[in-house]
Amino acid sequence: IPLTAATLPDLPAGIPGPRYDRARCTTGIVHFGVGGFHRAHQAMYIDRLMNAGKALDWAICGVGVMPGDRRMNEILNAQDGLYTLVVKAPDGTLTPRVVGSIREHLFAPDDPERVIRKLADPAVRIVSLTVTEGGYAFPAADGTAGSMFALITDALARRRESGTPPFTIMSCDNIQENGDTARRSFVAFARRRDPGLADWIAGHVRFPNSMVDRITPVTTDRDITEIGRRFGVHDRWPVVCEPFTQWVVEDDFSLGRPPLEDAGVQLAADVRPYEMMKLRLLNAGHQALCYFGHLAGYRLVHEVCQDRLFATFLLAYLDREARPTLAPVPGIDLAAYQRQLIERFSNAAVRDTVARLCADTSDRIPKWVLPVIRHHLATGGEIHRAAAVVASWARYAEGVDEHGAPIEVVDRLRDILMANAGRQRADPLAFVAYREVFGDLVEHERFVSAYRAALASLHHRGARATLQWLVTP
Ligand code: NAD
Repeated sequence: IPLTAATLPDLPAGIPGPRYDRARCTTGIVHFGVGGFHRAHQAMYIDRLMNAGKALDWAICGVGVMPGDRRMNEILNAQDGLYTLVVKAPDGTLTPRVVGSIREHLFAPDDPERVIRKLADPAVRIVSLTVTEGGYAFPAADGTAGSMFALITDALARRRESGTPPFTIMSCDNIQENGDTARRSFVAFARRRDPGLADWIAGHVRFPNSMVDRITPVTTDRDITEIGRRFGVHDRWPVVCEPFTQWVVEDDFSLGRPPLEDAGVQLAADVRPYEMMKLRLLNAGHQALCYFGHLAGYRLVHEVCQDRLFATFLLAYLDREARPTLAPVPGIDLAAYQRQLIERFSNAAVRDTVARLCADTSDRIPKWVLPVIRHHLATGGEIHRAAAVVASWARYAEGVDEHGAPIEVVDRLRDILMANAGRQRADPLAFVAYREVFGDLVEHERFVSAYRAALASLHHRGARATLQWLVTP
């Protein structure tokens, strides 16, 4: 059966749906960037609360601003906001549930005014974001019309004029101090238009920091077919994810919030230790695997992590380089967290792709790996594994793998990165000399020597042999 509000009562027995009356729910959250992750994470937590009879006034209105969001808009509207979330256990067990917390979805390019009106509605008390790490880059003066920044800033201006208190802006992207980052971007954006508004935002809008975690790969056609076959529901865009889920958020909301703690969310006074742990171990760990893995011919993350050589390198990177840069994290045993990471990355059912991890590197490695190198350059710690991860990216950016197959490099700086990588067989520092990404790293002799050695090894011996060399004590 197709998935719509009308077919909900007929859902097959093996696939639970909302136990609450969706017609009674009202919108309290507007979310920008409804992709896989939001639907596996925040929308799932809200749905969990609604199933317990709570948060019925915190339903979600999704907003898409990018051309690619048109499809999500069309499908979610056709399915009355409903979708299937399928949790994949390592043993292959699939646990589905139909999530009902997204009540509506708007495609901003079709009607930006409608989005602004929605945001200006006093019932909307939280605006949340998963717009990727690159989504916070300060937008150029031109071409901002219709952007997330423009829509939200216009709405804040209207709320200010009408005396409606501002909503809380809650970033859920993988960025260190994501709330502070969002605050800086929004205030700077507003300042260009209206300094008074910028001051008002800086003084009145809350931007809680958060740490979010749940591996959510891109939905494949194979997932859609399999979910239809196994559960008897035709969902045009389901979401699949791992069992693990974590959300730590600062309790800093100006107009209230759903009782998130009742759904397993951790409210903390300071989330920075959790963020750092997650970015430097999980996210950077992905980076330590993905370029080497792709070059060696792997396309699925679990295949890379189940290869002992790659897992050994990953653990050595985490143990010797990443973890020593972290302060203790309240309530968390970091060594156990690391072991659990290897298990999570090895989950064959999730079928996360190496390509997903290899995308947008210029927004990732500079934030998740380079700070580790800088830390150890200053303190005398080991850096050769991190330098090798950077070299693996440089080798990857050449755009051809070790079997001569082309690599589709996905990055907003793609052209310049590929051009730099293209010169590095003659000029080995061409890639890391690019200061916009690497700062002054190329002036640090200890980094340069480790990096050159790793890059030369990648060129002459390949990814496997390079890892072999790196893991040999
Ligand atoms: P996705 O590609 O499914 O969705 C990304 C969404 O962001 C899309 O709706 C896209 O249009 C929107 N977007 C991108 N750039 C934008 C911009 N400049 N302005 C406005 N919207 C923009 O990706 P996803 O898997 O949902 O991940 C999104 C983000 O969530 C990640 O970048 C990361 O920060 C965070 N996250 C993801 C995971 C995961 O495992 N997928 C885990 C933790 C955190």
